[in-house]
Amino acid sequence: MSRGVDCDQLVDLVDLCDMSKCLWMIRNRCPNCGQGRLFVKSNAYDLRHTMAMYTQCQECGEDFVREPGFYFGAAYVSYALTVALWIAVLVALMCFDSWGWIEFGMFSHPMTYLSVGISLLLLLMPLIYRLSRSIWIAMFT
Ligand SMILES: [Zn+2]
Repeated sequence: MSRGVDCDQLVDLVDLCDMSKCLWMIRNRCPNCGQGRLFVKSNAYDLRHTMAMYTQCQECGEDFVREPGFYFGAAYVSYALTVALWIAVLVALMCFDSWGWIEFGMFSHPMTYLSVGISLLLLLMPLIYRLSRSIWIAMFT
């Protein structure tokens, strides 16, 4: 019985921590070459084309649609990013409160937390959608 992390898994984790690959993920670039774009339109707020992706890399030919339903798993990444956003909103509001800019308490002003969180989530939804797909495909490259 073996314990610990398999060497291949460790190599995958190190690859994910490579800063150039992190930049490729943030910029929605091909996880293989970093040159080709994942999405047809670079502007995520062009809502008609927010979800339009290339099926393969325009530069190296990397397949972006590995199997039917491949991007269903990106919902897990999207969930994690959304939780991180809610935590960031909470920390920011608590900082603003401690600096005296606003009056905020998690239980005394729940509508402030909800309204700021929901507003930011709606505003950032196209970016979160694209980033979650970009991270998901990078995890399997
Ligand atoms: Zn490529």
